[in-house]
Amino acid sequence: MPLYRALPSVDACLKALETLFPSVPHAVLTAHVRRELDGLRSGIREGRITDAEELALPALISRIGTAVDKAEKPRLRRVINGAGVVVHTNLGRSVLAREAQEAVKLAAEGYCNLEFDLATGERGHRMDLVEGLLCDITGAEAALVVNNNAAAVLLMLDTLCKGGEVVISRGQLVEVGGSFRIPDVMARSGAVLREVGATNRTHLADYAEALNESTRALLWVHPSNYRIIGFHSAVPARELSAFAHAHGLPMLEDLGSGSLIDLSPWGLHDEPTVPEVVRSGVDVVTFSGDKVLGGPQAGIIVGKKEYISRMKRNQLLRALRCDKLTLAALEATLRLYRDRDAALSSIPTLRRLTMSAEELSRRAEELCGVLRQRLEKNGAPLAELQLKKDFSRVGGGSFPEQGMATTLVCVKPLACSATELKERLLSVDIPVIGRLEGEYFMLDPRTLDDAEFETIAAMLAAALT
Ligand SMILES: *Cc1c(COP(=O)(O)O)cnc(C)c1O
Repeated sequence: MPLYRALPSVDACLKALETLFPSVPHAVLTAHVRRELDGLRSGIREGRITDAEELALPALISRIGTAVDKAEKPRLRRVINGAGVVVHTNLGRSVLAREAQEAVKLAAEGYCNLEFDLATGERGHRMDLVEGLLCDITGAEAALVVNNNAAAVLLMLDTLCKGGEVVISRGQLVEVGGSFRIPDVMARSGAVLREVGATNRTHLADYAEALNESTRALLWVHPSNYRIIGFHSAVPARELSAFAHAHGLPMLEDLGSGSLIDLSPWGLHDEPTVPEVVRSGVDVVTFSGDKVLGGPQAGIIVGKKEYISRMKRNQLLRALRCDKLTLAALEATLRLYRDRDAALSSIPTLRRLTMSAEELSRRAEELCGVLRQRLEKNGAPLAELQLKKDFSRVGGGSFPEQGMATTLVCVKPLACSATELKERLLSVDIPVIGRLEGEYFMLDPRTLDDAEFETIAAMLAAALT
């Protein structure tokens, strides 16, 4: 068995690796070495390895080294979003404002008064940290925050509708990303769904017919990621609220995205703001913290005190409540909303949604200039570059059919295909995500920071050479 004897010992491998990776724990390196040696032993046994050269120490160390390098990189990494989808669920949705980042750091670094009342020295409530701000901003009487909007809907239905029926229009039985289906969440909450109307049309009479002694509430769900166009109608929220109240029932609304500022001056119509929904008489509204609001992942519930108080007493809340880091980020983000202009300029999601076509065109030219300088080798260009007018998307199921005018930077690699470039850009130091269209890999400056331009050039250069 001379081949087995040619295998280096675990100790010999470790000795070499420990000088290469002084900060990687001994046990981790040992595991890598054992895995490699086990693989080689089965290779010998199965006749795949026949040459002692393949077992030489330097080759082995280099292979194990590559595996260690790969495993030592954090799994959750910074990426560059050049796709032009502002609230990109797969890329972490909203980027936090600087103020929110600082608040998270502060809450992470030391103890904090999460549930401690500094005025009395007694136990406090974590919900008090943001309730006042939420009420001020939305005009609601009370507010509550949980882990995400799916949890908010669950808590709302479990508290107010369990064992009874909720009436909802057929046109609103939606599934949003991540297979969150309204009908399934309802079933979990123990509420029975009472569908009314047709997919495209629901009238007040349809709701009236569905009411009975088991009815606990009416629910309005924002259609989120799709729109019915053409022949359709729904009962306006204000009218439906008045109808619910006339029958002594609460009117509930899952607003989904939950914009706090009217974005119609920037061409984003069609979604009522949270304050508008509250004013229309809806009793409880739920929405996400990390979609158009631009804060951390959270589910925000605002509305009438009598209903929110019941939710606060629901034992389920203990399982759905959010942690100090989320609350820190949310409080700091909400504080920015007290001044509309401050919110628009310092919350990255809002800044990106409201960026003008002129500014985007100028920034696309700037990025193109940086790339032109960097994407060359010995004076020869590595790619062809051009600009193209196109559209960015809001994402997160918000404003689905509304594209926002932008200018894309299109990169046509000269030595490989655009598909290959796209794939290579996933394995560089800071992965760059873009769009692919025919021979072009494209970047949208709307979701990029100016400070990222140089990094993008470096990553593209690495991928192209
Ligand atoms: C996005 C969305 C949800 C889910 O919100 P999460 O915060 O992702 O849990 C629920 N309902 C609607 C209408 C949505 O748009």
